[in-house]
Order: sequence, then C-alpha cells, then structure tokens
Amino acid sequence: MSALRKDPCTGRWVVLEDLWPVRPLEPGACPFCAGNESLTPPEIAAWGSTGRGPNLAGWKVRVVANLRPALRIEEPLARRAERMYDAACGTGAHEIVIETPEHEDRLSQLSREHIALVLSAWAARITDLKRDRRIRAVFVFKNQGVMAGAALPSHAHSQIIGLPVTPKALKEILDGARTHFRIKERCVFCDILREELEDGRRVIETSEHFAAIAPFASRHPFECCILPREHTPDFETTGSDALLDLAGLLKSLLRRLESTLAEPAFNLFLYSGPNRDSRPGYWTTLDQDFHWHIAVLPRPTQVAGFEVGTGFYSNPVSPERAAAELRNGPDWTAQGAGAS
Ligand SMILES: [Zn+2]
Ligand SMILES: [Zn+2]
Repeated sequence: MSALRKDPCTGRWVVLEDLWPVRPLEPGACPFCAGNESLTPPEIAAWGSTGRGPNLAGWKVRVVANLRPALRIEEPLARRAERMYDAACGTGAHEIVIETPEHEDRLSQLSREHIALVLSAWAARITDLKRDRRIRAVFVFKNQGVMAGAALPSHAHSQIIGLPVTPKALKEILDGARTHFRIKERCVFCDILREELEDGRRVIETSEHFAAIAPFASRHPFECCILPREHTPDFETTGSDALLDLAGLLKSLLRRLESTLAEPAFNLFLYSGPNRDSRPGYWTTLDQDFHWHIAVLPRPTQVAGFEVGTGFYSNPVSPERAAAELRNGPDWTAQGAGAS
C-alpha cells in the first residue's frame, strides 16, 4: 500500500510506494506490443477497430492500469495528521496510455489522426477520473528517452495520474494565475499569448486553434509550451476538430525538436484544470483565470545540484534563439513535419 506525505515547509507531497510487489516480465516480452495484451492488467479503454473484444489485438490506442501503480483507486481516501505532519493513503489512479501497437514508433511518427486518438484517450480518461470526487487533479505526462526518466518499456506511452491532493507544481501555477486575475481581472495565459503573438520572437508555430511558444523564462534549453488560442480551463472539453488540429501541431513540434536536437529525451506535461467538484467553493475564479496548456521540456543535460537545491534554473539557450532554431531548423521540413 502506498502512502502520501506532505512536507510541512514547502507543501510538497511525496508518494511512498515501497511495498507494491512487481510482477516479473518475461525477458524480451514488451507488455505494450500488440499480441501481448495478456501481460498488462485488464484494459480500461481502447480505440481502434470496431467489433474487437477487450484485451485482444486490433487496437490503435489502449489504456491499462499501471502494473506497479504509485496510487490505487481501490484505496479508501483517508487524510490524517501524524503528529505535526499531514499524510494520506495512496488513493488515486495510475494509468498507462499505450500510444501505438508498434514497438518502434515514436509519438511524432504516428499520423495526425492517430495522435488525435491519443489526445482523445487523455481527454476521456481525465473526464472519467474527474467524476471521482476524491480525485483533486489529473495529470498526463510522457517521458521519452532514458534521460527523461522512462523506467517503463521504451514502447511509446504516456501516463495518467489522478491525485487526491493538488501537486505543488500545479498549485503554484493555479495560485499564480489566480493572483494575476485578482489584480488585473484577466487570464495571465491570455495575456502571455497576446504578448507573444504580437512580439513573435518566441513563437515557434501556430495553428487554427493553438500556438506553440518558447516561454519567456524557459528553465531548460528548447522548452516549449502549447496553449489553446481561445481561453479554455479544461483540456478535456476540447472538441474533436480542435484535437485533430492540436495533434498536427504537437506532431510538428516534436519533429522540429527531434531534428534540431539529436534524439532528444523530453518530458511532456499536460496541465488541465483541477477537479472543482472535489473542492467546492475553493477555486472560485478558476474558469476565468486558468488556461490549460502543455509543457514540453527537452532534457539534453541532467538537472544539476544547483537546480535541485535552489529551484533556480540556469539555461544556456535563450528562448528567442530556441524558437528561431525550431522555426527555421535546417532540415526538419525534409523529414515531412506537418504531414499526416
Ligand atoms: Zn513494445
Ligand atoms: Zn486564458
């Protein structure tokens, strides 16, 4: 059974997950490949050919529970004080979105329509998990490459975590957005978008509904952010046409990164609005002040002790230069970026 503990000074929650047994895998057998469906926990949802039975081949995108979950939905939620400390049981969800049945495909190599299915899977699972009032926030993230911390098989996948607490990284963004709104009565992300689209130096690419930019204060070289151009607090409300548009932009952005940086490892995070039903009356202006977005953080170097100890990042590549290189990269067009 896992447990959550909160650092009383920083407000950071930590998952302690030491007791969950790992089921050994056959050597060489990838549980995410088509034909190996029996090696994963039963599927939660799948997208692909119609008329296919569950846990059989024929899928294009498949969602399963993590074999070794950090959090489990079956755990009853119990928040408790341990003397001066706050703790909670490891209630929550930890799911894997297997993005393709093919072992060798990267997300960027899938067709735009296939990537849209992956995005639909994220949206459907967030919607479903937010129905559970115990879950305060749902996070989607993806680690590609060894440096980005991909401990699971190298087969393309993303992870969805439903948390019974609001993680510090999201809370800092939500608090910052709320403070900006209280002072200016405007969404900070809408302000950023307006500024960046007018200025243009940090814009990487735009599509009908979305914009990809290099953030003004990027922590890592070639950090990128995708935002919807219309103010929207929750990713999962995005319609199917806009998801297809987003799939095209995400594919193009990843191909730009992959051609500018050789074999980049990256982390991708989706920041969608938290579950307001789990905390009625708390995020009162969130619909106006928060704007969902995707952060892509290439990891060409290990995070150094300085960053870990201080939370203060040093970045040797300016976002203006990063955006210019990604916009005009020497050969990314030759690889067919943007084509589906
Ligand atoms: Zn595989
Ligand atoms: Zn906004």
